Amino acid sequence: ATPTAIMVGTGMGAKRGVLFKNAMALETSARIQVVVMDKTGTLTKGEPEITDVITDGMSQDELLRLVAAVERESEHPLAEAVVRHADALGVAAARAERFENVPGHGAIAQVDGRRVVVGNRRLLERENVDLGTLAARRDELAATGRTAVLVSVDGVAAAVIGIADAPRDTSVAAVAALHDLGVEVVMLTGDNQATAARIAAQLGIDTVIAEVLPGDKAAKIAELQRDGRKVAMVGDGVNDAPALAQADLGIAIGAGTDVAIETADVVLMRSDPLDVPIALRIGRGTLRKMR
Ligand code: ADP
Ligand code: MG
Repeated sequence: ATPTAIMVGTGMGAKRGVLFKNAMALETSARIQVVVMDKTGTLTKGEPEITDVITDGMSQDELLRLVAAVERESEHPLAEAVVRHADALGVAAARAERFENVPGHGAIAQVDGRRVVVGNRRLLERENVDLGTLAARRDELAATGRTAVLVSVDGVAAAVIGIADAPRDTSVAAVAALHDLGVEVVMLTGDNQATAARIAAQLGIDTVIAEVLPGDKAAKIAELQRDGRKVAMVGDGVNDAPALAQADLGIAIGAGTDVAIETADVVLMRSDPLDVPIALRIGRGTLRKMR
């Protein structure tokens, strides 16, 4: 590797806010065959908004009062969206007790002596909650690409909350540019299969790995590497860090968490997915000059 080629490549990246942490990162960029992208905060803006609150047997205000009490104790981006929504509607506050975070699933607490469970389908299944008529509403939301957060109160299904997180403006173009480079694009997410599949279809992504628990993301990367393929992972969250480390090339979104930025080999300062194909192209250009 000629030091001059490395310097030129690093400089070209820096000008665009694509920071290669070392020469190895630049060289690996040239060899990437698969790019795995986290959904929330990477392909999407990571600004979830409540779009629907569908209750069963309870007023919306009472439901939001219970749910917001639980979500106030959680640091999950979806929880923050629920709390903001309740506050904006002026919903009365309530205290949550015995809060329990269930990573990759949701949260549970006691509110007014009632057991309130907020999370995905697997969490409510674990609680043996029958969704009843809410199951169909949940499927409708997922089919439109929304995340459906389910709520049960004392073991009875109480609501489905629809949450939308818009794709970033350049996600479609980024996926197309990666395909032009002959790279396979995979979406990796903890969100449910139907929601993820809908968003992937909108973005032109053909492979979706959904409902992945936070601790399992790195293992999914290892699976993709099994036949010797060079895999890059693009992510923003704390729970993406192990996958960024496992990948041949870890790429962090600049607006992401410190842990992701520290773990990655490349940082996209502008948080623009289009900078992923650009990073690979800079790598390829550098490698050509080194031969
Ligand atoms: P991701 O951020 O990729 O969606 P997570 O592993 O953090 O993945 O969460 C997986 C799913 O679990 C979420 O899509 C959501 O349905 C549910 N979930 C997790 N935490 C919460 C929470 N605090 N409130 C509501 N739902 C949650
Ligand atoms: Mg994310």
